Amino acid sequence: MTEVIDGDAVAADVRDSLGDAIETLKREGVTPGLATVLMSDDPASETYVSMKQRDCEEVGIDGVHVELDTDAPAADLYDAIEDLNADDDVHGVLVQSPLVEQVDSREAFRTVAPEKDVDCFHPENVGRMVAGHERFKPCTPHGIQKLFEHYDVETEGAEAVVVGRSMIVGKPMANLLIQKSDLGNATTTVCHSRTGDLAAHTREADIVVAAAGVPEFIDGSMLKEGATVVDVGINRVDADTEKGYELIGDVEYESAKDVAGKITPVPGGVGPMTRAMLLWNTVKAASEQTGVDVEMP
Ligand code: NAD
Repeated sequence: MTEVIDGDAVAADVRDSLGDAIETLKREGVTPGLATVLMSDDPASETYVSMKQRDCEEVGIDGVHVELDTDAPAADLYDAIEDLNADDDVHGVLVQSPLVEQVDSREAFRTVAPEKDVDCFHPENVGRMVAGHERFKPCTPHGIQKLFEHYDVETEGAEAVVVGRSMIVGKPMANLLIQKSDLGNATTTVCHSRTGDLAAHTREADIVVAAAGVPEFIDGSMLKEGATVVDVGINRVDADTEKGYELIGDVEYESAKDVAGKITPVPGGVGPMTRAMLLWNTVKAASEQTGVDVEMP
């Protein structure tokens, strides 16, 4: 029987358990604060940012939203980030990407104070994560680790294949999988757009994490019987729905679920975990910046 990994349920669990930590902080006079920064008119980014703000409100985190004119100079963005760095009520700063073209996104991510970098994009935090003494883990791979924990996915000694090498998903996921730690210790292969024979790799894998952004390009014939399949992809494709589109993953769910041992659906798999772990990182950031000890779930 294939087990469908319920990301909505695990995310709800994470958010509930964060409640205790938030209460502890509030008793000590600290309300965790997250700032979202938007400099883009991409409708998907606007949706993501408003979802993140709503999530904050639901769990008792103070949300601040800063929006810049899309034709403003890049310096305005860097200044806005500096202001948030200096604001003691803001513990996490999230700069929504993609950014407008006049902005050097690497410069923007470097401007965020490392201790407020809840996305884990700052080179200092990336370096710390790679070295195995992380300040934050990036939200999507961290959320996937939480799913592994909840669903008893054994990573130690497993053959893992990560499809995709982005800074936000593929690279950090592979790094966490190879760490000498719980939820690590996997023998990990990273595949990408120049990989010659993708199926030859995925067919050998006990764990496949698909993060390429190509709709349904991994099907059941490319998977090993009993594998854990984590579908990170969120692809908007035209469909006869009220909105005119639907969201589908990188994995062809119908054929994959007949082969997989465990599988995440899209939606309702990785997506809600990414959102929950942003709240997690914000609470951790608030605790570390104020010196109020909390137990992180
Ligand atoms: P990206 O475009 O930055 O990177 C995609 C990666 O996939 C690249 O490294 C590329 O080498 C690789 N790739 C592309 N085509 C390939 C192919 N045919 N075969 C093998 N590798 C291929 O994307 P990203 O930001 O990492 O996001 C990937 C997908 O995950 C997107 O659909 C995105 O919307 C989604 N996403 C979801 C969440 C979530 O919370 N569920 C979070 C972040 C991203």
